Order: sequence, then C-alpha cells, then structure tokens
Amino acid sequence: MTEGQLKGQGSLAANAAGEGLWQTCVEQLAQELPEQQFNTWIKPLVAKVSEDFSCVTLFVVNRFKLDWIRAQYSAKITALLEKIYGQAIKLELALTPRESMDRPRVDRSSANSFTAEEATDLSPERVSEGAKNRINTALTFDNLVEGSANRMARAAAVHVASSPGVLYNPLFIYGGVGLGKTHLMHAVGNKLLSDRPKAKVLYIHAEQFVSDVVKAYQRKTFDEFKDRYHSLDLLLIDDVQFFANKDRTQEEFFNAFEALLAKKSHIVMTSDTYPKGLPDIHERLVSRFDSGLTVAIEPPELEMRVAILINKALAEGSVMPEEVAFFVAKNVRSNVRELEGALRKILAYSRFNLKDISIQLARDALRDLLSIQNRQISVENIQKTVADYYKIKVADMYSKKRPASIARPRQIAMYLAKELTQKSLPEIGELFGGRDHTTVLHAVRKISAERQQLTELNQQLHVLEQTLKG
Ligand code: ADP
Ligand code: MG
Repeated sequence: MTEGQLKGQGSLAANAAGEGLWQTCVEQLAQELPEQQFNTWIKPLVAKVSEDFSCVTLFVVNRFKLDWIRAQYSAKITALLEKIYGQAIKLELALTPRESMDRPRVDRSSANSFTAEEATDLSPERVSEGAKNRINTALTFDNLVEGSANRMARAAAVHVASSPGVLYNPLFIYGGVGLGKTHLMHAVGNKLLSDRPKAKVLYIHAEQFVSDVVKAYQRKTFDEFKDRYHSLDLLLIDDVQFFANKDRTQEEFFNAFEALLAKKSHIVMTSDTYPKGLPDIHERLVSRFDSGLTVAIEPPELEMRVAILINKALAEGSVMPEEVAFFVAKNVRSNVRELEGALRKILAYSRFNLKDISIQLARDALRDLLSIQNRQISVENIQKTVADYYKIKVADMYSKKRPASIARPRQIAMYLAKELTQKSLPEIGELFGGRDHTTVLHAVRKISAERQQLTELNQQLHVLEQTLKG
C-alpha cells in the first residue's frame, strides 16, 4: 500500500468499518490462539484497511516480529479476514514507521489494547524516552474505578503515593487475576511521579527481577544491581508469588527490601495470595511482606462492574447505555480483564456493523461467551461461592495451607468443579494453585463417598449446587 492510499482513507464510515473488520479478526484470533501467543504476536499489531477493503496492512515493530508473523500467522490471518469480509483480501506486512514509534503512544489510554502487564513488556523502542521506570502512564487512579471490592487497597495505595515511606510500608496487595493489582501499582507510581518528577521509581514484575538477578550473577555486576535497586524511592514489585523456590532471588530481594526500608523508601508488592499463603518463600521474607499493611482486592460487585464498563466505553469514545452495561455486567462476572474483553467485542461489533450499542447488539456480540456461560459454571465462581459459604478466603483455594478448616472447603470446591464443569482433573488441579491431578481425584472420591454418609454435608452441597446453577 502506498502512502497516498493510506492517507486516502477518506470517509469516517470506511475507517470505522475497516477498524471493525480488523477488530473482529483480532477477537477471533483471541479465541483461537493460546493467550500467550495472542498477547505476544497479535495484540500489538496495528492495522490499516484500504478504503475498498481489498488490502489490509499490518504494522509490526521490528523485523524479527515481522518475519515471525509472516511465517506463522499471515495465512491464518488472511483466511480469517476473507471469511469475515466474504471477499478476497490481500495482506501486507510493514514495519511501523519510525516517527510514529518515537511519538508517545497516544492511543494507549484510548485503545487500551495493552493490559497492565503487557505494557511493561513492550520492546524498548515502543516505550517513550525516560520511561526507564517502566511505569505505564495510562494506568492511573483517575481511571481506576472505585468500589467496595478495591476500596481498602485503593485508599492505602493513594496514601502511599501521597506520602511514601511513612505508613503502610511495605504495602502488600493480593487478589485473583484481572482484578486491578497491576493497575493500582502503576497508579501509585504515576501519582508519585506527578508530585515529585525526580523521584526514583521502578515498576518491575517479579519474573523480571528474577532475570535481573540471574544476569547480575552471570555478568558479575552485583554492585550495579544493588546501586540500581537500593537507590530507589519507590519500588513496585508485581506478582511476588513468582519468587517461589528462587532462593538466590529471595536473598537479593531480602537485601534490597532491608536497604529500602532502612532509608524509608516505599515498597509496594502484589501477589495472588496473602503472604502466609505463599508457598516456597522463606519465612523471614514472608514475615517482612506482612510487616506493613496487607490488603485484598476482591472481584468487583455488580454495580462496580457496571461503572467500569461505562467508564471504559467512554474512554474509547463510545457511550454504553446503563441497561446494556447491566446486561453485560450480569453476564460477565469473574474479573475486570474479562469485562474489558467483552467490551472490546461489543465496540468492535458495533463499529463493524455501524449499529448503536443496545442489549440486542451486546447479546449478538457476546453470543459465544454467553452460550458458554449458560452451559458452564466457572471454577473461579465455584471457588468464590464455596469460600464465601465456609467463610474462608478465596486465596485459600490456591494456597498450600493444610488446616482442616481450609483443606475441607477446598476439597468440596474441587469436587464441585469436577461435577459442574467440563474441566479435566489436571486442569482443575492447575486452577487450585497448581495441584497435582491425583490430589483432585482424591478430593472428588472423598467428598462423593462422604456425601452418601453425612446428611449435613449432603445438604450443604445441595445449597452450593443450587447457588452455583443460579
Ligand atoms: P491484575 O494485575 O490484578 O491481574 P490488572 O491490573 O492487570 O489486574 O487489571 C486487568 C485490567 O482491568 C487492566 O486493563 C486494568 O486497567 C483493568 N482494571 C482492573 N480493575 C479496574 C478498575 N477498578 N477500574 C478500571 N479498570 C480496571
Ligand atoms: Mg497483574
């Protein structure tokens, strides 16, 4: 495609429909490819659709990615585009023009196509200058919707951002996937940097920290490593459950931790479970994690999900009527990331078909998702329902703790997961904190045998089954 053609993309309608075509294709790929592959290769692509829809150009950030996409995905993408559009389409791959890479990514907040985590994963050329702190400027307190599910965590984070090093140090935030932990961390970083632009802030995912330690080890650059970490004013370290079994990393982190606290620098951590529920992390580190403030983020309740949908639609330049937001929020319950996925589908569907957002449109756009949900109950939902019922923490469903008061509800949840979902034993084990399938099998057998004997248990299971089946 020539420049002229690119510029010649005249009418708004053609643009919107072109975008819709690509979005629809992306949605399909998201369904078909493993998440990791999708996030790495497909999601970062930027597409231009020619006015007559005969040609789609995909812009890729570097040569390596371009070759890989050509080899692995171009045939599939072409076939999909043709299927969606119903006519032959030519696919071209091109490198992202230099000047548009150098510009800060204006579309970050509006297109919102990067999750908090991936944003940190962008190759260096896509991160704007000076962003060595790895803070994603698109994730702020302003666009983090508040609700009872995250109120405590949010309030603590705001406090830390306003007066770091004073109270709640370290701040330990835990909760399930897609609930906004990473977003909250970046928000802390952004707020501190806007108050004190010179502050030394670093956001880092625990896995990246592990690889930094390994590199320092191999290159014998521990002094630089220490200089870098120990001089920070604010360290935001995400998903510390990844430190499990990494002894050397834990030791280095312990050192950094002590050094930072001693100079009243602030540390914010996240994890999928609370400190004492973290398996394979040294006791001395666990007790440090718990020595400031530990707060949970829960899955958002209905009204909060509605607010998130309406806000995110607005950020994308669309208006989602309240009744539609309620309809979607009632049907997409597990986490915010899924809510965003549903919203993306609806917006794409509306753009591609040039139709306003209505309940019917949402129903059509989410057809696949809704039919799956109607048939299936999710394991996450089972874990939450059972945890609520037995008054334990959802995090205990994946923790390695064994007291009977926790182990038994966990076995009950495993049993229900086997009974009410299509998941295999290994899949269930995976969703319960990476347990072996034999553990799940044992739980299933045990609970079903006991169910025959114990009236009380049988009754409880009935209540749970009814609740889950809605
Ligand atoms: P986690 O780190 O807990 O897995 P993320 O922080 O990556 O979750 O959040 C997943 C997505 O949901 C992100 O795009 C984030 O911006 C969004 N999100 C989560 N919670 C909220 C919220 N309360 N308001 C607005 N967006 C949210
Ligand atoms: Mg995260």
